Amino acid sequence: MDFEIPPQTSQFEREIDRLMNSSEIQSLVREVSARADGMDGDVRPLYRRLGEHGVLAPAWPRHLGGRDADFTATVVLLERLVRHGIPQSLYYISVQIFGSLILAGGTEKQRSELLPALARGELTACILFTEPDHGSDLAGITTTASRDGQEWVLEGRKIYNLKSAYADVALCVARTGGPDTSRYEALSVFLVPLDAPGVTVRPLPSLANEQFHDVRLTGVRLPDEAIVGGVGQGWGLITRMFSAERSGLDYYVRARYWLDMIAERLVRGGRELEPHECAALDRARTRVDASRLLTCRALQRLQDDEPDIALASLAKWHCSETAQEVAWLGYDLLGLDLVLPRFDLGEPAVGPDRGWAALEAAHREAPGMGISGGASEVLLDIVAGARLIDVPEGG
Ligand SMILES: Cc1cc2nc3c(=O)[nH]c(=O)nc-3n(C[C@H](O)[C@H](O)[C@H](O)COP(=O)(O)OP(=O)(O)OC[C@H]3O[C@@H](n4cnc5c(N)ncnc54)[C@H](O)[C@@H]3O)c2cc1C
Repeated sequence: MDFEIPPQTSQFEREIDRLMNSSEIQSLVREVSARADGMDGDVRPLYRRLGEHGVLAPAWPRHLGGRDADFTATVVLLERLVRHGIPQSLYYISVQIFGSLILAGGTEKQRSELLPALARGELTACILFTEPDHGSDLAGITTTASRDGQEWVLEGRKIYNLKSAYADVALCVARTGGPDTSRYEALSVFLVPLDAPGVTVRPLPSLANEQFHDVRLTGVRLPDEAIVGGVGQGWGLITRMFSAERSGLDYYVRARYWLDMIAERLVRGGRELEPHECAALDRARTRVDASRLLTCRALQRLQDDEPDIALASLAKWHCSETAQEVAWLGYDLLGLDLVLPRFDLGEPAVGPDRGWAALEAAHREAPGMGISGGASEVLLDIVAGARLIDVPEGG
């Protein structure tokens, strides 16, 4: 594996730094703050401005709004977004998860209509998979899509989805096959406009800064063109999407940023690190470096059009467990100083000036990291099934 960043990516990195440090972007970052009604901040105006500069989807083909760059440009972009205090999850869901699926499995019409708009930051998306009784067991979902004349009619309920209040369109999995069809062949993926009649979006409280949503689908009517990848083809598409979602990139970038911030805070005022602090930071740094390598390897496989769900599961498991450990390490090393800023709102929660606020938020986000995008136990089960099944007896 090549560990070097290509020169074009270094150039892209400098371009992003210049852009992020511009007064225009900095003032937009400062405007993104939690709303008085408890909703997390609206980052869309900021994404639209970044989209105008053409930096949001570097690895996509140029004619679809990208730059024909390789995956290292995506890694650098995410590292920079997090370092500059730009909330990344709406972007990550819209471009890296939803967009990757449309790129891989959408029709020409879906690709040409959706991808350039996503790359410009003008369209945002969310994922409606999880239901009250089905999360890890996704093939068991009960939301149905049934035929009525020329249309599909969706009925069901989806929960724990992020960013739905700020999304224009959802990727929603529903059951199109009857009881005689196999669980995996009965699933189809639909594009659901969130302003369609019959869709209601309500907030669900969360320990983390970002709230969840409860989405009800009541008699939502959709045309055939709303299906991605064909009727009954949902499971293959979802598996492909998981290979992108589970690269671990979004966890690795946050782990790295939090660790740098913990180290910075420990040496504030010229204080010398204690030996046990050095050891803990070094251990965590090694894990973060390993996370980056696993993420890059999973992204390389996607770029080569050889998605590997077991490798991606390993990457997501390692990166999310590492991010969780780093978030808790902050508490171990910084103690109560880390949680107290929650009660002192003098510091912004986003933007380049945030500091303690980001570490404190990480501490509350940590428990969900081993669950979102695939629970750790389930991911390890996939890795074991794919990698250990052929081990010869006694081998
Ligand atoms: C921060 C966050 C963001 C999320 N964002 C979204 C989103 O945008 N869209 C969306 O649709 N969903 C989202 N989810 C939901 C998430 O995908 C589900 O929570 C997850 O798939 C687990 O499903 P569950 O909650 O039903 O738990 P379960 O599947 O009921 O799991 C509960 C426990 O049982 C264990 N378990 C389950 N099956 C097995 C097994 N076969 N072997 C061993 N152990 C097992 C799990 O590891 C877990 O510890 C999000 C969740 C979180 C925490």
